[in-house]
Amino acid sequence: MNQHIHCSVNNCHYWAQGNKCEANEIMITSDSSANQYPDRLDATQTTQFPPTPVQSCMESCCKTFVPANSRQINADGIRRQQ
Ligand code: SF4
Repeated sequence: MNQHIHCSVNNCHYWAQGNKCEANEIMITSDSSANQYPDRLDATQTTQFPPTPVQSCMESCCKTFVPANSRQINADGIRRQQ
């Protein structure tokens, strides 16, 4: 699968010029689920997330987000692709 993920969150560690996401994989979930689970739980453990239906895009988020230069960059096993 050749995915192209576009994102405007430019303070994320995985963000790149042109609004591109360079994470090797990402996890989208509900806002409430993202608040509930620790940073280490992310796309590398995707089967541990229960179904999390939402009513609109405003209730979903990218759990893979981590601020650039954060100490948590390596907490979840996600890699930045070159
Ligand atoms: S990890 Fe999520 S927030 Fe970060 S650039 Fe990719 S899609 Fe955007």
